[in-house]
Amino acid sequence: HAPTPYYYTQPKDARLLLHKRERFSNKGSFGHALLLAGSYGKIGAAVLSARACLRSGVGLLTVHAPSCGYTTLQTAVPEAMCRPDSNERMLTGQSEVDTPPPADYSTVGIGPGIGKAPETLAMLRDLLPTLTKPMVVDADALNLLSENRELLDKLPKYSILTPHPKEFERLTQTWKDDYQKLELLRNFAKKYKVVVVLKGAYSAVATPDGDIHFNSTGNPGLSTGGTGDVLTGVLTALLAQGYDPIEAAVLGVFFHGLAGDRAAEQRGPIGMTASDVVDALRWE
Ligand code: AMP
Ligand code: MG
Repeated sequence: HAPTPYYYTQPKDARLLLHKRERFSNKGSFGHALLLAGSYGKIGAAVLSARACLRSGVGLLTVHAPSCGYTTLQTAVPEAMCRPDSNERMLTGQSEVDTPPPADYSTVGIGPGIGKAPETLAMLRDLLPTLTKPMVVDADALNLLSENRELLDKLPKYSILTPHPKEFERLTQTWKDDYQKLELLRNFAKKYKVVVVLKGAYSAVATPDGDIHFNSTGNPGLSTGGTGDVLTGVLTALLAQGYDPIEAAVLGVFFHGLAGDRAAEQRGPIGMTASDVVDALRWE
């Protein structure tokens, strides 16, 4: 009979998935990620996901953010390159700075703090058909998909979507109990051939094959602004390094939660912040 489609990620499972760092490697060995993040008043989301991406082993990182975030990003995240949008306050996808098209990067992560401006929707509309490699989609990028459902079919197969329950409800419908919620999750992942991380305690990673991996790490200290942006940076880094998308999601969610547990040890669940989670990331 068919194997049970439920899994529970424990430390030994996660550690088996970790790629070793080769001695004869260079930054080109670990991919070049592009993060599309931030809007006026939410540049911090771009900073957090960029810092998390760099703490998760990416080779190179370029952040495309509204131009009001330029100095902040270059100061807070000197390791990242910045591609300022032509628009000061929101993402339009245009830039005076000449850089390769998004499809040329190892992977693209989009969503943290981007808002839902019509210009940003237009950018997403133009962007999706150009991408073939799996990407990471979070936050208002997910909300834009919910409001423009024809775009869901344009997502590259095996992309990772990271909704919290409210965002997942917008993508699907309200559920009457946890059983229905899991069925909605499984069906959505199968229908669109994407990996969906339904975030919260015991975050559930649903695969296009119908499997669901529950996560064992994390704590209520993660219920604070910015921790989801951190996860987006983590997952973008793993895809850029060439991890299989299902393994990237399972692994990334596990180590993000583990960093949350370490941050809670140091600062307590009440005092910890998303920045503490970034600094607590440790891949072993
Ligand atoms: P977001 O809502 O987008 O900021 O994402 C919140 C992040 O914190 C996700 O990775 C959640 O899984 C995690 N998180 C929030 N609350 C909890 C909790 N009570 N237990 C474990 N993880 C949590
Ligand atoms: Mg979020």
